[in-house]
Amino acid sequence: MEYKLTFKEYSEALKKNILLGLKCKDCSAITVPPKMACRSCTSTKLETVELKGNGKIRTFTAVYVAPEGRENETPYTIVLVELDDGPWIMGNLIDIDPSEVTMELIGKRVRMTHKVFPGDKYSAGGAARPLFSFEKQ
Ligand SMILES: [Zn+2]
Repeated sequence: MEYKLTFKEYSEALKKNILLGLKCKDCSAITVPPKMACRSCTSTKLETVELKGNGKIRTFTAVYVAPEGRENETPYTIVLVELDDGPWIMGNLIDIDPSEVTMELIGKRVRMTHKVFPGDKYSAGGAARPLFSFEKQ
């Protein structure tokens, strides 16, 4: 099997603020970040699509004790966002101090941007990861 969309291509697109996903030709579900098979039906008939990156916060967690290699990023807030396009993706939330996050975050509209994080001992170099900021009313 081969990757229709590699993680490297996904990361390179993110650096240009383009969120790529994989749309299933069998069930239409969108899978992001890229995997070899559809997250919904495991079909491998996938095509690359560009997503809008807007959605709403479903859940969040404030991180004070970082995993190894991310110590200098703390504190930060990780949100799980349900995109308007369907899939749920995780990213860092900016625009708010992690000590001020409350349950009111849930349901708030956000839009995606990105940040390039330096590589650590587990990766081959810098990679872009999704960031979310509040949608302007
Ligand atoms: Zn599918």
